[in-house]
Amino acid sequence: MGDTSRRTIVQGLGAGMLAAIAGSAAGQARRAGGDRKLGYAIVGLGGYATRQIMPQFRNCAHSQLVALVSGSPDKRARYAAEYGIPAANLYDYRSFDRIRDNPAIDIVYVVLPNSMHAEYSIRAAQAGKHVMCEKPMAVSAAECEAMIAASRKAGRLLMIGYRSRFEAHNRLAIDLARSGHVGPTKIITAEHGFNAQPGQWRLDRPMSGGGSLMDIGIYSLNAVRYLTGEEPVAVTALESTDRRDPRFRNVEDRIDFMLRFPSGIVANCVSSYSSNHNGYRVIGTDGYIDLEPATSYEGQRMTVRKGGKTVPQTPPPANQFVGQLDHLSECIKTGRKPIVAGEEGLADLRVMEAIYRSAREGRTIAMPPRA
Ligand code: NAD
Repeated sequence: MGDTSRRTIVQGLGAGMLAAIAGSAAGQARRAGGDRKLGYAIVGLGGYATRQIMPQFRNCAHSQLVALVSGSPDKRARYAAEYGIPAANLYDYRSFDRIRDNPAIDIVYVVLPNSMHAEYSIRAAQAGKHVMCEKPMAVSAAECEAMIAASRKAGRLLMIGYRSRFEAHNRLAIDLARSGHVGPTKIITAEHGFNAQPGQWRLDRPMSGGGSLMDIGIYSLNAVRYLTGEEPVAVTALESTDRRDPRFRNVEDRIDFMLRFPSGIVANCVSSYSSNHNGYRVIGTDGYIDLEPATSYEGQRMTVRKGGKTVPQTPPPANQFVGQLDHLSECIKTGRKPIVAGEEGLADLRVMEAIYRSAREGRTIAMPPRA
């Protein structure tokens, strides 16, 4: 569902429904949140958490870093000292469930290897906490459904770390694509890939759930879904993996996929662990919208070609990490649903499962209509 349709639905809620929401957990959270910055616990002190996420809390208006969860006493001590986290707010994986008794923690941010996302998101919800979970949401659609059910049962919010939705160029691209700025969209090409280094959990299927698609190809998929605002109805994929390469013993290298959307838009997507790509192009009847890099941590470049002219686009900057972190805090405070709630992660996993199935079976997979 697009942002616009979500807004329309929210605007369309009657007084009774709004009262019900106010009485729900989100409503309680709003009362609990007040004006204070909501407290995040980071679970998993790896590269992404420590280098990209944790340094951004100082720029947040509604969020603060209050707790750390790690199996490494050294990392806990080092980052606790760096961020001024008290000893009472440090946990390991065995003491994790005691976060239930810590009112300073409002949100648990799961930044662990993919196969651990479901377990820690569910345990966090059961401890009464809201959850931010990294992409991919989990390693199967069934796990995603269990995570959504756990958060719903606990009356807490669940959001997926789709940071590009808070990045200025991507936001502008969504607006331009969906409003038909270059004419109705016909074709989207989306390419994401990098050269995977050996010896990491990403190349170990039990930890990663899959290869390039789970890790980087998901950006191509998620982009074509947010650029169209539609869900694909047909999925065709082709895998190209050199199994003699020791990196790819049990995960795929390249998996190219083609999606057809209900409006007739076709997306051609690249996912690769052996070549560098980061871009997409939305091609309409009157021109195109081009981003490269599109979904990197910084340095996005965007051009629009229309009427025979190619014009660079420089939207006002927006810090995507801060936007993501504060969005969940604001949703908790105001009782809104995040724009990238668990259902978005589930939608990606459903398509990814169809992509793998198409490649395996050598045929186009028809997607069941969304409930
Ligand atoms: P990483 O390997 O740097 O960090 C993983 C952390 O998990 C480490 O601190 C490690 O010690 C810990 N861990 C706990 N149990 C483990 C186990 N059994 N095996 C391996 N590690 C274990 O990985 P990362 O790059 O930080 O990725 C973490 C998550 O964040 C992944 O889901 C990844 O997809 C996601 N990620 C998202 C982005 C983004 O831009 N949104 C970028 C990078 C990573």
